[in-house]
Formats: sequence, structure tokens, C-alpha cells
Amino acid sequence: KLENATLKAELGRATWKFLHTMAARFPEKPTESDRLALKSFIGLFGRLYPCGDCAEHFRKVLAKNPPQTYDRNAVAGWLCYVHNIVNKRLKKPEFDCNKIGDFYDCGCGDEDKNKEK
Ligand code: FAD
Repeated sequence: KLENATLKAELGRATWKFLHTMAARFPEKPTESDRLALKSFIGLFGRLYPCGDCAEHFRKVLAKNPPQTYDRNAVAGWLCYVHNIVNKRLKKPEFDCNKIGDFYDCGCGDEDKNKEK
């Protein structure tokens, strides 16, 4: 079957959105189990991402830049960095990772369940 660049890009946008939103919601004070879950997830993601060429390239990026799971900031910063590696390869503009702040909001409105919000 022919490659369909529109669908490939759409999948990419949806996936990045999901990944960055997940990073933005990663615990600020993760447990060892949270950190292991993220690491495992990314490893499995690299195996299972449905665009085979993309996944193959991304596995190489991951091998050189393993997930930083220390806390939320580390995860969000790491993911922004590896997304920029993909951007560079595809000749897309670099994203300023200092501006990631509240860019990704899941809209779930349930963060810090213990706090009044
Ligand atoms: P996207 O790169 O999809 O980004 C979406 C939005 O995220 C941008 O508009 C911007 O607002 C924001 N953003 C951009 N950079 C960052 C950043 N560094 N951090 C946080 N937010 C950011 N396509 C291919 O053709 N070949 C590939 O090999 C390939 N590999 C991929 C590997 C992975 C793991 C993924 C998830 C996708 C891959 N894609 C690949 C798809 C590609 O990365 C884009 O998603 C697609 O081309 C659409 O690009 P876009 O310009 O809409 O922006």
C-alpha cells in the first residue's frame, strides 16, 4: 500500500499531543513504580508505534537519550528534547522547551485531588 503522508502526520500530531500531555501530568514526586512505568511505557511505545520507520528511528533516539524519569520536569524536558530531535530530522522548527510550561493541559481538571481547585 502507498504511503499516505497526511495520515502519517495526523498520527504523529495526535501521538505527540498524547505523550506531552502525559508528561505534563507525570507526578511531581514519582514513586519508583511511577518511574519504572514511564520507562517501560516508552520502551514499549518504541516497539509498537504503528509507523515502522518512525519507530525504528525513534528507538535509536531513545538508545542515545534514555527517558529521564526523575520527576515531572525531567520527563517533560526530556520528551521536548527528543521531539526536537525528530523535528530536526524532518526539517521542522525547533520548539523552545522553556516555553512548555502549561502548553499541554489535559483538561481533566482533577489534578491535586487533595487540594481545592
Ligand atoms: P508535530 O511534530 O506533530 O508537533 C505537534 C505540535 O507539538 C506542534 O505543532 C507544536 O505545537 C508542538 N511541538 C513541536 N515540537 C515540540 C517539542 N519539541 N516539544 C513539545 N511540543 C512540541 N514522521 C515522519 O515523516 N517520519 C518519521 O520518522 C517520524 N517519526 C516520528 C516518531 C515519533 C515518535 C512520532 C510520535 C512521530 C513521528 N513522525 C514522523 C511524525 C512527525 O513527528 C510529526 O508528528 C508529523 O510530521 C506532523 O508534524 P507537525 O508539523 O504537525 O508537528
